[in-house]
Amino acid sequence: MLTKESKMVEGQAIGYPPELKKLIRAVEQTRPERLARIKANQHFPRLTREEGEKVLKSYHPDYRPGGRRRLKVGVNKGEILADEVADLLESYSRIDPDAFDNRLKKPDYETDVLILGGGGAGAVAALFARQNGLRVVIATKLRHGDSNTIMAEGGIQAADRPADSPYYHYLDTMGGGHFTNNPRLVKALTMDAPLIIQWLEGLGVMFDKDNAGNMIELKGGGICRRRMHSSADMIGAEIMRVQRDEIRNHPEEIQVLEFSPAVELLIDETKAVSGAVLYNLETREYSIVKAKAVIMATGGFGRLHIQGFPTTNHYGATGDGLALAYRAGVPLVNMRYAQYHPTGTVFPEQNFGLLITEKVRTLGAQFINARGREFAHPLEPRDIASSCIIRECAEKSGGVTAPTSHYGVWLDTPMIDLLRGKGTVEKELSAKYLQFKRYGIDISIEPIIVYPTLHYQNGGLEIDEWGATRISGLFAAGEVTGGIHGDNRLMGNSLLDIHVFGRRVGVKVSEFIKAGKKGNRLSLGHVRSYHDSLIKTGVKTKRVAPILLPDYVHRSAPVYPRKS
Ligand SMILES: Cc1cc2nc3c(=O)[nH]c(=O)nc-3n(C[C@H](O)[C@H](O)[C@H](O)COP(=O)(O)OP(=O)(O)OC[C@H]3O[C@@H](n4cnc5c(N)ncnc54)[C@H](O)[C@@H]3O)c2cc1C
Repeated sequence: MLTKESKMVEGQAIGYPPELKKLIRAVEQTRPERLARIKANQHFPRLTREEGEKVLKSYHPDYRPGGRRRLKVGVNKGEILADEVADLLESYSRIDPDAFDNRLKKPDYETDVLILGGGGAGAVAALFARQNGLRVVIATKLRHGDSNTIMAEGGIQAADRPADSPYYHYLDTMGGGHFTNNPRLVKALTMDAPLIIQWLEGLGVMFDKDNAGNMIELKGGGICRRRMHSSADMIGAEIMRVQRDEIRNHPEEIQVLEFSPAVELLIDETKAVSGAVLYNLETREYSIVKAKAVIMATGGFGRLHIQGFPTTNHYGATGDGLALAYRAGVPLVNMRYAQYHPTGTVFPEQNFGLLITEKVRTLGAQFINARGREFAHPLEPRDIASSCIIRECAEKSGGVTAPTSHYGVWLDTPMIDLLRGKGTVEKELSAKYLQFKRYGIDISIEPIIVYPTLHYQNGGLEIDEWGATRISGLFAAGEVTGGIHGDNRLMGNSLLDIHVFGRRVGVKVSEFIKAGKKGNRLSLGHVRSYHDSLIKTGVKTKRVAPILLPDYVHRSAPVYPRKS
């Protein structure tokens, strides 16, 4: 919705409407004074631990009461989760096990390892599984690479400079997660990190470097050293580019099935996971894959829109892996708090909810309220920064209302060129620059309106440091897993985790398969038992999971009628 004053060219709004331009003046007025302060090394003070906890408790969407309920079924029974997650878990399967008994006897594909998910974690697992002598099938929901990985903007963390060490990286990660992380997973994450950067470079990833060829490394929120490796503001696209290429170099050993999401796991008579049922979104047919092991790499749940928030995530991020593995008996950990990224776009409406990478604040942009005043340190951890923005809008009347009636605060991006030289925004944040320029907003001279947006799952499937779940034959890596980031992930640690655990799981799965597997008969027995417990515990629902695509996208998979 635009005001009369907004100009339209070929259906697109040109720039901020006059009422917002008027509000921007307050930001411009305080800019010289803020600039002088930064140049004198005087930064907005960070909150103390006690102040941080107070603001979280009062304003973070998941710390406030409401929007959650106690789970009635499965291994996490009794735990309190977001309504949207509880709904997903307390759902029926898309398939009727009885209708599949005969189909299971004649699998359509047989392979050593089946990887569910064609994002970064799936790609890395596939490359390392192949390297360890395995035949791989990757089944993915949309096109290969349509994922959160390809959308990643800011960078990947690794303590690989002399002034840094995995020790500091470990402490930062534990602190950022409020010490609820699994220390063994964090140790693996931070110790393997330098190796991962070397591996990516070897594969052909073009990281930002200075004229002498040294990596340019930046700081992120909640970290004490510069260790963020980037590729302008498109690190995910760069990583996915080389990984997809590398997978295409090995068509004999790695087969990719696109538009083929998994809709159920298969187990064998020893209760080990032994394959999956796929649903072809184009032909609308089911197929059966039999495998000696399965790696779950289906990514996160942003498209569940927890607590009604918009999201940065791609359309396939509907938490499918959580529903599938939970039904098979894998516990979920650290699911209490989702990550709301502090800087989701508010205006223009076409960009609503999309991410403004933390790198923007790393480079010097500040949080400014409607009165032109800075109100939070730009590099607070994400949960605290989000809570400060919500407080500013809700309590301190510091919010700015866009013509769409959504509100937020200013992110003063023009500070970047003023601090680092003209052209920095265009060079370092080229994707963001173009994303706004398309709508007539030049973010190197005008600020952006931002508000928290649902960004990351934080928790997920319980794994050990080699990506094994509690269920034999089922491994997991990437955003679908929990425990690495505790209650709050730090910037750059997710791209790192998909590589560290993608590699580890690719190696481990080959050991598992070489040790020999006992079962052979495919079954959907666990689905029958889960359906029974839904009925026994009185869960009255017609919901089915995985949902595959969010409600507002055409839902094409047929649902089999249930008996009771
Ligand atoms: C906009 C944005 C920017 C980000 N920037 C950064 C950053 O700078 N640094 C950082 O560390 N992290 C960043 N992240 C987070 C990070 O990119 C992701 O957490 C990470 O890449 C997830 O990788 P993944 O392989 O686990 O999942 P994804 O990359 O999402 O891949 C999951 C794949 O599984 C497929 N899938 C889903 N369901 C099924 C199913 N039922 N069957 C088969 N396939 C299925 C999906 O379609 C997808 O292809 C960002 C995230 C977003 C959204």
